[in-house]
Amino acid sequence: MYHQVCQTARECEISPALRVDVKSFENQMRVIKEIGVPLGLEEMIDRIKKQSRPDKLYFSITFDDGYRDNYFHAYPILRKEFIPATVFVTTGFIDNRNSMIPWWDRTRRIAEKMGDLPTNELKYLFDRVGFSHKDSRQALFRALNRYRKEIVYGRIRDDEFVERLNNATSDILDNQALKWDDLIKMVGDGLISIGAHSVTHPSLAFCLDAGLAEIKDGIDRIESMLQTRVSVFAYPFGKSCDYNQDTMRHLKELGIEAALTTISGINDDRADLFQMRRIPSSGMEGLDRFITRIKCANILGLKK
Ligand SMILES: [Zn+2]
Repeated sequence: MYHQVCQTARECEISPALRVDVKSFENQMRVIKEIGVPLGLEEMIDRIKKQSRPDKLYFSITFDDGYRDNYFHAYPILRKEFIPATVFVTTGFIDNRNSMIPWWDRTRRIAEKMGDLPTNELKYLFDRVGFSHKDSRQALFRALNRYRKEIVYGRIRDDEFVERLNNATSDILDNQALKWDDLIKMVGDGLISIGAHSVTHPSLAFCLDAGLAEIKDGIDRIESMLQTRVSVFAYPFGKSCDYNQDTMRHLKELGIEAALTTISGINDDRADLFQMRRIPSSGMEGLDRFITRIKCANILGLKK
């Protein structure tokens, strides 16, 4: 599971769980071909449906959210290595490039500004999440995200925090999302498929009617813009608290065949197609550690 593929490793330091550099990504794709077989997600789902016991390690590559670097940095490597992949797009990020900036891009921007002379906005945000100046940028990013996520879940109501976070990051002018033209080009050669990931990236379990409008409008928008059928969905945030039985029922009623979580693990012939697991990428680990993680997932999966 990937999100962003950046030009340099330095860009991945603050949020290695969301970013990997292009060189590491290329090495990881080569390793995947050496130790297993890359497979389109739709074919993987078909195999699980037929309950065919996996004889080898099969991989499906996925990208969440719909960042433009998927097109510029990842797609050329996927084409060169002939590896299929699925991009789960948050349609609002694509349709509102200048107004809908993902909040985790804003919290990362704050962590980037950590060494700057603190303005009142920054001081307020640091104090609000209990930031100690001994903490690292990564720790600040995680603390800001924890607090912001509590607002998503409605456990904290803090409009002032959101407003100040937005003000302190008003230098982000573009949300870096894919454009519809990029997606049309990627879908064109049959190697890349597109899945839905909602309109505004909420936690669906906390939405009215378990996110029905978010799910349906996201699917409809992709299908009308790309003239393609959407059959797969990735839950925004993707933990078990971010969706519920109603969310899964809506997906099934809308013709979705499988939904992916961000829960770590692999999927064998007994996998729940509406709670599929993924192996997260990590931008700051070496290739050896990546190989160990993949191989451990293999051993754990076959033992189940
Ligand atoms: Zn996402």
